[in-house]
Parts: sequence; C-alpha cells; structure tokens
Amino acid sequence: MRDADVASRRGVLRTGLAILAGGMLATAARAQDADSKVEQSVVQYQNAPKDGQKCSGCANFIAPNACKVVSGAISPEGWCVAYAPKGS
Ligand code: SF4
Repeated sequence: MRDADVASRRGVLRTGLAILAGGMLATAARAQDADSKVEQSVVQYQNAPKDGQKCSGCANFIAPNACKVVSGAISPEGWCVAYAPKGS
C-alpha cells in the first residue's frame, strides 16, 4: 500500500469522525435546551389565574401555549410562582 493511499484513508476517517462528533454535539445541545426548562410541579404551575395574574400577562409566556422557563403545554389562563409581569 502506498503512503498516499494510507494518508488518504486517514483523511477520510478523520472527516467521518468530525462529522459524527458534530452530529453528537448538535443532539446534545438540543437535549440541553429541552432540559433547561423547569418542570411544572416545581414552580407550582396551575391551569387557572391567581390573584389576577395569568400566563398571558407574563413576560415568559410564548403564545399560544408555551413558556420560556417552564416545560410542557402552558395555558394563557395559567399561572406559576415564576410569574413576571410584562414590562416590569
Ligand atoms: S406564569 Fe409561569 S408558566 Fe406562566 S408564562 Fe409565566 S413563568 Fe411561564
């Protein structure tokens, strides 16, 4: 086997490993995003407003039914202890 052939195979192997590593990092990053939100039970999330406060008026609310900091489906009529009024 020629030196050039060995070098070429090493190059292909390195490229393949780099692509594999990149894919694994992207997958880990997506998992990290999902895990970075808090479980609803941790912040005492409820599907009803509390004392006039509700998710639709919270800076963390993402219409139509998500939250920047709390995982899962979030009702615009819900509430949790992480409530932060919009514009505050
Ligand atoms: S009240 Fe809680 S669950 Fe609702 S949007 Fe704000 S932080 Fe998210």
